Amino acid sequence: MKDNMSMIMSAEAQAMRGEYIGKDTVLELLSLDPLSEDCSALGKAARRIASRFCDDTAIVGSSIGLDLVPCSMSCRFCSLGEKWRIFPEPYVMPDDDVVDLIRESVDQGFAKFTLRTTEFYDIDALCRLRRRIADEVPGDYVISANTGELDSEKARKLKEAGYVGIYHAVRLREGIDTPIPVETRIATIRAAQEAGMFVASGVDPIGIEHTDSEIADLIDLYRELRPNTVCTMKRINVKGTPVGDLEEIGDMRLAQIAAIIRLAGAGVWRNVAVHPVTEQAIRWGANTVSLELGANPRDDKYEGKKWSTVGREMAVKIFQESGYKVDSVSAYTRRH
Ligand code: SF4
Repeated sequence: MKDNMSMIMSAEAQAMRGEYIGKDTVLELLSLDPLSEDCSALGKAARRIASRFCDDTAIVGSSIGLDLVPCSMSCRFCSLGEKWRIFPEPYVMPDDDVVDLIRESVDQGFAKFTLRTTEFYDIDALCRLRRRIADEVPGDYVISANTGELDSEKARKLKEAGYVGIYHAVRLREGIDTPIPVETRIATIRAAQEAGMFVASGVDPIGIEHTDSEIADLIDLYRELRPNTVCTMKRINVKGTPVGDLEEIGDMRLAQIAAIIRLAGAGVWRNVAVHPVTEQAIRWGANTVSLELGANPRDDKYEGKKWSTVGREMAVKIFQESGYKVDSVSAYTRRH
């Protein structure tokens, strides 16, 4: 049996060639102690793989939550689930405010946006909003959608309206912590890909109870689904949801998973995102972050235009200090 350092070196060599390191290696890497020297070697290897596959370009995007509407899906980790009654009164951000926010954000240097909604937001309304933004906000920027399930017709409509991509994940414990079947999520991802959209997916949302094997299964599934970005996202345990009293995973574990996603995605996904913004994960191969505004399923209060995490300047600085150049449009729209 190989020792950990040899295993990491051979995984790096394989990833450099754009080959899949395989689920068994993913599992071995997940079993490392996040605070160990071995894990630090893994992180440094992942950063070299990032250089090779994303050319040291990074994305600092903004994700704008449009609706604070109690959602009948009531996923166990989501503060917008109607069963948890955290936000009993619906609120939808007026289109005027969204357009103003995008305009202000473009002026600040943002060039990649995600418009995020609850599961049943009207697709036609989302398309009208995108067209209005195109008419009223000049500039070089791209917008993706993070919304409910899509069939080919809905995906085509979004693409034609100007959404370049979607965020859509098969959640950890999908169908158990959520009422949505894994196959439904996969069908949405495939519909978007067939419509020619970029797809960002995620190992999402990671809690302390998730096993190495569950995480490896999801990474393995993404290798097959071939999204353009895979995000590693820590679950924020919002008080009042069923997970509200659990501990959260630490930054080093989050960074370790980001590093493994970077190695496992070599030759398939160009971008690895981390949420929330975590310096260690950026040092270990994540090149994408999304700063949140508006309705947020990871929050128990509505802060409108206030950034939920760090601001753009700080995020850009973190990337620069880790050797990346922030170039959100080109990093998002380049394919391998
Ligand atoms: S995660 Fe999405 S589908 Fe689940 S309750 Fe929240 S908004 Fe609804």
